[in-house]
Amino acid sequence: MSRLMVSVSGVRGEIGQTLTPEVAARFGAAFGTMLGAGQRVVIGRDSRPSGPAIRNAVAAGLMACAVDVVDLGIVSTPGTSLMTRQLEAGGGVVITASHNPIAWNGIKFLRADGIGLFAEQAAELKEIWQAGRFRYAEPTVCGRESRNPYTHTRHVDAVLSIVDATAIAARRFKVVLDSVNGAGGEATASLLSKLGCELVHLNARPMGLFPHTPEPTAENLTDLCEQVRRHRAAIGFAQDPDADRLALVDEQGRYIGEEYTLAIGAAATLERRKGAMATNLSTSRMIDDIAAAAGVRVFRTPVGEANVASRLVAEGCIFGGEGNGGVIDPRVVPVRDSLVGIALVLGHLARTGKMLSQVVSGLPHYEIVKTKMPSGAEGPAGLIAAARRHFEGREGVRFDDSDGLRIDLPAGWVHVRGSNTEPIIRIMAEAADRATAEALIAELRGLAPGN
Ligand code: MG
Repeated sequence: MSRLMVSVSGVRGEIGQTLTPEVAARFGAAFGTMLGAGQRVVIGRDSRPSGPAIRNAVAAGLMACAVDVVDLGIVSTPGTSLMTRQLEAGGGVVITASHNPIAWNGIKFLRADGIGLFAEQAAELKEIWQAGRFRYAEPTVCGRESRNPYTHTRHVDAVLSIVDATAIAARRFKVVLDSVNGAGGEATASLLSKLGCELVHLNARPMGLFPHTPEPTAENLTDLCEQVRRHRAAIGFAQDPDADRLALVDEQGRYIGEEYTLAIGAAATLERRKGAMATNLSTSRMIDDIAAAAGVRVFRTPVGEANVASRLVAEGCIFGGEGNGGVIDPRVVPVRDSLVGIALVLGHLARTGKMLSQVVSGLPHYEIVKTKMPSGAEGPAGLIAAARRHFEGREGVRFDDSDGLRIDLPAGWVHVRGSNTEPIIRIMAEAADRATAEALIAELRGLAPGN
């Protein structure tokens, strides 16, 4: 049985195994205790069938601590962030396991500004939960619950406000969208309709039985690629179940991938405004090249959305995100948002008059290879120490140990770190060609204890 993952990103576990109603109610009470009596919390959930059970348990814990609960229904993670801010709630909760398979669910906690908890807040929450140090309310002042059905409308309006909708609509793009039967389908269909697109919508129903493994990676999107070709569409988009990540497919039905979502979003943003950007250490060098050409700075942060989001806000960046297809435009929400990604990419196509394949071939080209391995009992520390010893003294080497270890070499970089959400070690490398990136990964994997 897998263990319950309690991290800065929230809680994830397998339904009926490690993530039970008892666990969820105690986390609701811990969050309610941390926020304090009299606060209000919005709760959204993705489309998993286990969602209502976990939502009710979290809400029970919150209300027992005299916190009011606003149920948003099935909405995306960025939608929940937006409503946390618009309703001036004390915090937000999203019931989602993001791209994890159907057996999983999770609880993600948002601050009043809509960003995920920072490390010290996540540690405080975990401490309250572990110690059972809950401040349950007097019986007369328990929290109340209400519903708010306006997330999709407000979210779509916010996204429309950052692009030239008229210019996009004039192109009448034909778009194939795979919403994986997740939470993003309804709002995204509404957005594309308002952008004048002709939509072929795959897996549009938010009933949570995922038609394929829900992570929007190449091996899971063969049907989307096929449908883009068959419908002669201009572009294909794939969302993950909570609609914060976005992958692209070009007009020839080729999977372009998630790294390009961030790069094209950056290019689209810098076409209209100049300002700094923020991303994590595991993200492609493409954004550095695009920013350098525009004369703006890129801030690099440890992996973890809250790290990127908080730096982005603190430095006054106009755009940012992660190489997993999560783009952030702080005018909409300070979290990753696939609807923002779609709007920016379509805006770029409309403005340049190019097809997606032409946009991609005009960008600096790198090959990025991402792998993972089981972390074992000792975690990534042994491998990281071995990697530092191994590469030390190599010509031109630079180390960044703010998150695991990133090793920059003249020919490329390799980054090794423990996952925040799963018991695995992630190893990523990037170079001008795939063979060099794969060789860097092989060299690093060969240093693992036991090898
Ligand atoms: Mg997600």
